[in-house]
Amino acid sequence: MSIDTAKEQRGFESEVRQLLDLVINSLYSNREIFLRELVSNAADAADKLRFAALSDDALYEGDSELGVHINFSDKLNTITVSDNGIGMSRDDVIEHLGTIAKSGTREFFGALSGDAQKDSQLIGQFGVGFYAAFIVAERVVVTSRKAGLPAEEGVCWESDGKGEYTVETVLRKKRGTEIVLHLKEDATEFANAFRLRDICKRYSDHISIPVSMPKSGDEGEDETGDEIINQATALWQRSKSDISDDEYKEFYKHVSHDFGDPLSWIHSKVEGKLEYTTLFYLPERAPFDLWDRDAKHGVKLYVQRVFIMDDAEELLPRYLRFVRGVVDTSDLPLNVSREIVQKNKTIETIRAASIKKILGAIEKLAKGDDYDKFIAAFGRVLKEGVIEDFANKEQIAKLLRFSSTHDNDETPAVSLEDYIGRLGDEDDTIYYIVGDSFATAKNSPHLEYFRSQGKEVLLMHEPIDEWLVTHLTEFDGKQLKSILHADLETDTDNEATDDGDNADNETLNAHDAVLEKVKKALGDNVMDVKVSKRLTESPACLVSGEAQMSANLERILQAAGQEVPSSQRILELNVDHPMVKLIGDIDDDERLASWSTLLYQQSILAEGGKLDDPADFVKRMNEVVLELAGPSH
Ligand code: ADP
Ligand code: MG
Repeated sequence: MSIDTAKEQRGFESEVRQLLDLVINSLYSNREIFLRELVSNAADAADKLRFAALSDDALYEGDSELGVHINFSDKLNTITVSDNGIGMSRDDVIEHLGTIAKSGTREFFGALSGDAQKDSQLIGQFGVGFYAAFIVAERVVVTSRKAGLPAEEGVCWESDGKGEYTVETVLRKKRGTEIVLHLKEDATEFANAFRLRDICKRYSDHISIPVSMPKSGDEGEDETGDEIINQATALWQRSKSDISDDEYKEFYKHVSHDFGDPLSWIHSKVEGKLEYTTLFYLPERAPFDLWDRDAKHGVKLYVQRVFIMDDAEELLPRYLRFVRGVVDTSDLPLNVSREIVQKNKTIETIRAASIKKILGAIEKLAKGDDYDKFIAAFGRVLKEGVIEDFANKEQIAKLLRFSSTHDNDETPAVSLEDYIGRLGDEDDTIYYIVGDSFATAKNSPHLEYFRSQGKEVLLMHEPIDEWLVTHLTEFDGKQLKSILHADLETDTDNEATDDGDNADNETLNAHDAVLEKVKKALGDNVMDVKVSKRLTESPACLVSGEAQMSANLERILQAAGQEVPSSQRILELNVDHPMVKLIGDIDDDERLASWSTLLYQQSILAEGGKLDDPADFVKRMNEVVLELAGPSH
């Protein structure tokens, strides 16, 4: 196989260019994190080599003491970060340093506004990574050789971070990666021993491989040997009382590639039949790829401190995919493969216990002030748990928050327990409405009766809510019921039957007549037309039969490209409404059809639906308006 050894110039992928701009512009006030990112990558590279060497010891090439070395020159204004980890091949370098190999990248960059201030908020979601080098460097030179490749297949990558880079195959005896930063004029202060040590202590102390620097004071060049400047133990193996909050936070940034702090964490050591340690973090912000089906999971699996795999989806269910952290056990063989992990009793036990721990941590968070942040970021994902995790359904349901007519606030803050706490002793139903937006739900005519009675209704407005309610039909002995369905039991129900016996026959007949008329006029569009008990202000609304899919769910499925026919629903009329009364008085068939259709179309619009023929609605509306305005117009 002949390999391309020539020096070639290439352009960064356009996303990389955008990311570079974003990083350089938005992180100016926090420039020192460049070192954290480079050391973090070196530690990852060591992890990867250790794992690869489990099945091929020769990859160590006789050097299995893995570490990171930092050096600098205040004469040349350079900082060098080198490691003897897995290294990169020419192709690796092009792929990893010239493109962004993360799913959802395009969408992320599509969402940027171009406003540096706003966009800098987003960078945290994305993670900064290697490109942070360009915050302080005007030129970056990466030399690397991948473990297992011959010395002739080293690679040199160089760029000024503007738009292009060069790659060249070079001779490189040492395995691993060396990154030389040629500092910008205004960043020369970093070529300083105290500064570098201080930054390392602050951001990289938790790195589990040794980070070393030349020993003698601030003169990088006349080395008198190296010294290790970090603790160089796996943070999760240390005892909790020895770890400061700042250390936990920095470690979070390393494992999560997140830029911000976590909301909380749980660190536990289990000793007994199984021995394992878990350190889980709840992030504050959703990663940009939270909704990407292929996005990586955030928990790393270690066996006896040896990194085994990223993205160990078997360790946690999908609905906890936002959790970041580490699981380390001594109860799996070091040569554990993905296949083994997939149906392994130890993993299953750790998984079940981990879910409990994490739900417990969320429960704790729910009692504090930060819970709205958590719900804003992950509330929707948590709802998947009610659907997917039968064993923990009740516990997860407790953690959910909803909007409600209690506070009419779009920010979901009402728990099912709050709702139940406000119910009367006799009441055993939790009412909800699902709309395609908060406004649709909040302003739905279906709520009129409930508002008039002071009965609370949960205002659900997220697409997943339609699925949630099909799985969450009961909570704490109370039924959850949609107010959009036909079988509404209202207090006036009883009144109606009570009065029924001595009701004025004439009124009943008049009602029947209107219902008949409208039903005839609407034909196949509706299943039935009934007198409504739920409307006080609006003339009409549509409801679904008990076993019928809600109109909102139909629309969601249709939008997703599924062939769901729109079903006929029941039109309910507010017989006290002047418009309905007016219809009762119409004798002309054509006018009757027009007014009835208007009612029907209005009802669809009010619930957030789309009309098949919107122009028809407008035409009818105008006809009616002109008719009412009188003949002189
Ligand atoms: P991330 O660490 O989140 O993957 P980075 O931008 O920090 O993103 O790094 C991009 C990729 O470049 C890494 O995933 C890795 O494949 C490669 N890389 C960076 N630094 C090193 C290194 N020191 N050794 C080997 N590979 C590296
Ligand atoms: Mg990185």
